Amino acid sequence: MTFEEDTQICMGYSEQVEHFMGAAIPPIFGNTLFTFSSFENLVDAVLDEPSHYVYTRGKNPTVEIVEKKLAALERGEACKCFGSGMAAISAAILSSIKADEHVLCVGNIYFSTKGLLNYLSKFGVSHTIVLTTDPLEIERNIRANTAVIYFESPTDMSFQILDLETIAAMAKKRNILTIVDNTWATPLFQKPLTFGIDIVVHSASKYLGGHSDLMGGAMISSEEIIAQVFKKEFLLFGAVLSPYDASLLLRGLRTLPFRMKAHQQNALKTAEFLDNHPAVAKVNYPGHSSHPQYELTQKQMNGFSGLMSFELKNATFDRVAAFINSLNTIKIGVSWGSFESLVISPNYGNNLDKLQQEDHLNPGLIRLSVGLENIDAIIGDIKQALNA
Ligand SMILES: *Cc1c(COP(=O)(O)O)cnc(C)c1O
Repeated sequence: MTFEEDTQICMGYSEQVEHFMGAAIPPIFGNTLFTFSSFENLVDAVLDEPSHYVYTRGKNPTVEIVEKKLAALERGEACKCFGSGMAAISAAILSSIKADEHVLCVGNIYFSTKGLLNYLSKFGVSHTIVLTTDPLEIERNIRANTAVIYFESPTDMSFQILDLETIAAMAKKRNILTIVDNTWATPLFQKPLTFGIDIVVHSASKYLGGHSDLMGGAMISSEEIIAQVFKKEFLLFGAVLSPYDASLLLRGLRTLPFRMKAHQQNALKTAEFLDNHPAVAKVNYPGHSSHPQYELTQKQMNGFSGLMSFELKNATFDRVAAFINSLNTIKIGVSWGSFESLVISPNYGNNLDKLQQEDHLNPGLIRLSVGLENIDAIIGDIKQALNA
């Protein structure tokens, strides 16, 4: 039922095309500003910008439609879109902390999010990253000045699952805000707010857009938190989602449910193949029953996307590079979540210590974004590259 409701939201929900002369899809409001019939009307609008169209660095009708859809999909009260996932993450973290406070990160997180937290040390904001899935160990790492618990589930590169409900409850008891990056699952497959998480962030540049043609981000939370962010981190930093990109995002959302089902099917077959291959030591895919936390996924997830990792046996940088370079159908590139299959490795050949000691990642780790190509072409490509 939920998936069917969500499919409806991805389509016409909140589009109100009757206001747009019945246009089949909402038009792109590419204008920077809106004019008023009197100066008094302008003054009223400026004084309450969150509810008025004044200037596109504030509220824009095309962007607003995307925001209503994303809020509805996450079952959140409100959403604000941004010019990239990092803009949304920056706004969410900055709105939640003050100088001398601490951010506790759980599990592997996106490298630029880590970079942001390192950067924030110059304002007296500290952070620690605890690589565990154990709630007790998470609890032990909470400090007196911890203001935020931040994580991704599944975690970056390692695809471990964190218990949303348990962590949310632990944080709430201590008045700590929780922020979850839900880019991997999309709101179709996981809704962190329904487990008590305070703020969800997304990179819309991945599955939500889905066609490698737009940069965007989103933050979904309570009316109160989003209203604060609108006035401060959104309006003042100015990292707006372009109305043109918002229109592409609306188009991406129309096919999201169908794309996600297809990614899931292809990814499960790919994980199954890799799991049985003698050159592969380990597969990290939460949708495969071999995943050590498969039971927890059943409690908090509705499905699984197409991003996974696996570990090559006897891996050196040269072995990793040789495998990647032998792929044909699967392209070499950063990012993920689009129609095309993509591969990278966090092993750059010069970062072995950091990889193993800081990130606890295996040198043979390959990250694979399983796309929408024919599944025989994807598996055939991996097979020949493993044998090469
Ligand atoms: C890509 C990504 C981001 C950053 O999003 P951008 O749109 O590239 O700024 C954040 N979190 C995760 C998990 C990502 O994969």
